[in-house]
Amino acid sequence: MQWTSHAWCRAGVLATAFAATLLCAPPAFAWGPLGHRIVARLAEAQLTPRAWAEAQQLLALRGAHHLADIAVWADDLRDTDPALFQRTKRMHFVNFHSGKCVYDPPRDCRNGECVVAVIEKYSAILADRSNSPATRAEALAFVVHFVGDIHQPLHADYRHDAGGNDFQVRWHGRGTNLHHVWDSLMLDSTHLSVAQFTDQLAAQRTRIAIGGTPARWAEESCRIDRDDGVYPRSHFIDQTYVERELPIAEQRLRQAGARLAELLNRDLASG
Ligand SMILES: [Zn+2]
Repeated sequence: MQWTSHAWCRAGVLATAFAATLLCAPPAFAWGPLGHRIVARLAEAQLTPRAWAEAQQLLALRGAHHLADIAVWADDLRDTDPALFQRTKRMHFVNFHSGKCVYDPPRDCRNGECVVAVIEKYSAILADRSNSPATRAEALAFVVHFVGDIHQPLHADYRHDAGGNDFQVRWHGRGTNLHHVWDSLMLDSTHLSVAQFTDQLAAQRTRIAIGGTPARWAEESCRIDRDDGVYPRSHFIDQTYVERELPIAEQRLRQAGARLAELLNRDLASG
């Protein structure tokens, strides 16, 4: 995946006449605000009292009260701090070499600039109390965001189409791209608020796999892209697609929330 500024339009212009007629949507970087805030709320409800107490101290340094308040900050940098965004934009995803979906750091994560490595990096910064509170608070914001991203299947790309940003689709009669469908459109189509959606997911009782490492979480996402019908053959997103794929997106949100809580319960209880 490459987040070049106009990769999405390039595909529309150079591909088929059909695709060229589609409207171009801006390149996406993550679950949209709804997805990230759901992950944060799910995690917050699973924090130990000790981890939550320390999280609140760090959140206060950023003028925040809840994990959801900082969950979209890493994406908002695009507007609020373009220089920092430039330095961090490659951290939101990982590109796999092939559909085998086997993570190989020297090949798939050069210079440690991919979502797998940066979760480990910022988790370590967060856990290390010799770092300043401000540095740890920033690490918390990155961790909350990137654990969400890594569970969005299209953030673990193996098809070299910018995580579906270059895969044009029709959604309710208008053109967009597959990445945007997964980041936002499919979740937003439920018309649920963050609180309502979170409560609904928290009430689900189907078993989900938790634990594991960021490398495994990314490999799971890559395999979902490959095996679970994420790429529609027709380039049309219809209700059948949503009924099949939305439960997968919901499962990934639940896993992200549970794993983020595990990570924070560990990192914030190490002092
Ligand atoms: Zn992101």
